[in-house]
Amino acid sequence: MTAENPPRPLPAGTDTEIAIVGGGLSGTIAAIVLGRAGYQVTLIDRYPVFPREFRVEKIAGDQIEKLRRLGLLEALEKAAVAFDEIVNVRRGRVLDRTHARHYGIFYDDLVGAMRAQLPKTVRFVAGRVSGVEAGPERQRVSIVGQSEVTARLLVLATGMGDILKRDLGIERKFVHQRQSLTFGFNLRPQGSEAFRHPALTYYGGRVSDGIDYLNLFPAADVTRANLFVFREHRDPWVKAMRERPKETLVETLPGLVKAFGDFEVIDRVENWLTDITVAENCKRDGVALIGDAYQTSCPAAGTGVSRLLTDIERLCTVHVPQWMASPGMAAAKIAQFYDDTVKEAMDRHGLNLASFRRSLTIDTDLQWRARRQIHFSRRRILHEINKVSPAFAATLRGIGKPRAEPAT
Ligand SMILES: Cc1cc2nc3c(=O)[nH]c(=O)nc-3n(C[C@H](O)[C@H](O)[C@H](O)COP(=O)(O)OP(=O)(O)OC[C@H]3O[C@@H](n4cnc5c(N)ncnc54)[C@H](O)[C@@H]3O)c2cc1C
Repeated sequence: MTAENPPRPLPAGTDTEIAIVGGGLSGTIAAIVLGRAGYQVTLIDRYPVFPREFRVEKIAGDQIEKLRRLGLLEALEKAAVAFDEIVNVRRGRVLDRTHARHYGIFYDDLVGAMRAQLPKTVRFVAGRVSGVEAGPERQRVSIVGQSEVTARLLVLATGMGDILKRDLGIERKFVHQRQSLTFGFNLRPQGSEAFRHPALTYYGGRVSDGIDYLNLFPAADVTRANLFVFREHRDPWVKAMRERPKETLVETLPGLVKAFGDFEVIDRVENWLTDITVAENCKRDGVALIGDAYQTSCPAAGTGVSRLLTDIERLCTVHVPQWMASPGMAAAKIAQFYDDTVKEAMDRHGLNLASFRRSLTIDTDLQWRARRQIHFSRRRILHEINKVSPAFAATLRGIGKPRAEPAT
């Protein structure tokens, strides 16, 4: 869907057909898809240029196919660094190698690349939204120091810490408070020209470390590290990781330097504590929530972008065209989006995978100890079989496949 359809005339009494609040990844892509379909869209975000904030930095797996379907893969390809092999290591030994396309990109560059695709049917407004009102016919958006925007449909794509939902009586239900910690930092090789591999994933070796995995991959002109951890945020290890990242990593993952090469951490260590939340009471007149505004994702599960792209595909290509074809925007219409079985399945998958990654990393009961053992042994054995017979390994991989892995 890359061709732009001609814009339709605006309905009486509204400034725009669809107002989208939040121009991060969700709101921006939703605006592109709707704008290309010919809807008059107003996209409002407090940042004219998205700042350097720590969010997703690696796009892979189903996310690539979804971006292709939405006509946005080319824009990603131009802005990101592509790589096709990841060496997966645990306790100093190679588990297996992942052969699939991945893209490394900083989040502000990703949002910037997408914003560059906004068609003429989308009006971008830089400003902070201070209030929203929703109803069965018309939605109102108040922007600090600017005139109000009125629309037939309001899409809230305001991310994790959104307070606007309160105006609408929509609450956040905590599925898991302080689910995981994610660290992000840049590396450069020490004592050599280059690292041993362009991309490597190093899995935690001991439950007591609480480390799920460390992703090392190229992004812009650096090697980027994303470390996914299940530990209390007040744990002294967390402070040590922020203050002495190299020493802390080398101590916790003793085989890392041998597997990847000696390194130096450059710039500061960013970290993020994630709550898993789902919006409640959201079948309301006039407003639909997408992306993190609806449900947040555990970064270790790598499902945030998959979820938001599913929200966008279902909302913008299936439901909005039906809603706009008849008058009104009552809650009964909006409910169709939340009851969409494809969306529901994706949302459930995000929650299941978040809980799976946490249990696989830190649960100590007999069941999880056994599952952990089987999980990593299976990967190692398949890797060995693959060396002799790739076809047989591929067949085995399809049999009794455990729950989906994040696209490491
Ligand atoms: C550290 C970290 C690592 C992650 N890693 C991965 C990963 O590896 N794989 C993966 O798939 N997902 C990952 N995720 C999840 C993914 O980044 C998010 O799901 C995704 O970025 C959500 O995008 P969004 O557009 O919904 O929200 P955001 O990108 O947060 O956008 C929200 C926008 O709303 C705007 N806004 C909010 N309130 C207002 C207001 N009142 N007025 C105007 N504008 C407003 C903000 O300015 C912002 O631009 C990670 C998340 C984190 C935090």
